[in-house]
Amino acid sequence: MATLSADIGVTYRMRAGDLGALFSTLHAANFLTIGPRLSGEAIILEELNGPEDLPVGWGDEQEAGRYRLRRRADQAFFGYNLGPESWKKFLTPQRQLLWRARRQGATFTIEQPERLGGGPQQLAFIGVRACELAAIRVQERVREVSGQPANDLIDAKCRVATPFLVGVTCAQSAATCFCTSMGTGPALGPPGSSGVGYDLALTEFPSEDDHHFTIEARSERGADIASHIPRQLATEEECDAVRQQSDTTAALMRRHLKLDKPAQLFQDSLEHPHWDEVASRCLSCANCTLVCPTCFCTNIEDTSDLSGDVAERWLRWDSCFHLDFSYLHGGSVRQTTRSRYRQWLTHKLGTWHEQFGSSGCVGCGRCIAWCPVGIDLTVELEALTLSPEVTGVQTGKYEHP
Ligand code: SF4
Ligand code: SF4
Repeated sequence: MATLSADIGVTYRMRAGDLGALFSTLHAANFLTIGPRLSGEAIILEELNGPEDLPVGWGDEQEAGRYRLRRRADQAFFGYNLGPESWKKFLTPQRQLLWRARRQGATFTIEQPERLGGGPQQLAFIGVRACELAAIRVQERVREVSGQPANDLIDAKCRVATPFLVGVTCAQSAATCFCTSMGTGPALGPPGSSGVGYDLALTEFPSEDDHHFTIEARSERGADIASHIPRQLATEEECDAVRQQSDTTAALMRRHLKLDKPAQLFQDSLEHPHWDEVASRCLSCANCTLVCPTCFCTNIEDTSDLSGDVAERWLRWDSCFHLDFSYLHGGSVRQTTRSRYRQWLTHKLGTWHEQFGSSGCVGCGRCIAWCPVGIDLTVELEALTLSPEVTGVQTGKYEHP
């Protein structure tokens, strides 16, 4: 184990053709490999058999309300930015069966589901970006602060065991990315720099005559897996190229979010007329919360079959944009789109700090690209920092929702 520890943080060079060895080593260690795959007109996250399932030669173009795949000039495995799905799909699945009751004569029995991912096979996530490592940490922190005990029903029955994380350096940014503003990317950084440990760091160099990766172990289990992959020590120039790649990506980032005193800004902006302006465009469709890698709202759903013999309790994703989400004893607390958008942004960028000790936004830009009307939180925030006269909207009296 001492040899493996000594390998942590050492940069090796790996031929692109040996990427398959990473998959086969993980499979031999009983990991289910999950990563990006082309599906229809998007890159989504699903089980991968090997590197042939990665979106080879595909990239994407993103803007507010726009996401398009495009062919790249090279055969990069990780040449896209971010798709609509985040890893929370596996860490907090969209629907989880909590229990099932089955009638047996005059009595009933309760069946509990198998623990997901906690059985003999664990998950390995391939291609996790720096902002997504930060998002995983944010979700971990939410669970810690929420005080879900180890024997909590949700934790014990439905949460997956810590996956094996293979990070990939971003060689390009989408026009919607702003991780540099949030301090979450684009460099993967040393373990713990985004608050979460990870196992392997890959950086891809997809040139036609010398397609290769650098690979660095970030944990002992990462060093163990990497030791089975054909590799050689990277030269100093190759180590420099890793740093240069993320520096160039950072320099090209076009969107920025400036927020010095978030709690104060939102406290001072409760009656800002811009909330009405954004509400006139927002469809309250909840897309932004579903694609967001840190949004965590859930609800409980009880169902029964027509025979009355089987009843189930499900935990499923919900959204603060839904009218029913704030339903309390006879009515919804947030009845207008204005109040729901304000709640989302105020929590995400403001009160999240007080509650969980960080921003709830990691700058991935998904909510910008996947909003059907192209609402962009970086632009809305800028409007909120302007006085009502500058925004051109008459100040109305603030009405409590
Ligand atoms: S609020 Fe938007 S940009 Fe921030 S983490 Fe969520 S989806 Fe990404
Ligand atoms: S901001 Fe956009 S994605 Fe979010 S609820 Fe409104 S319309 Fe839907």
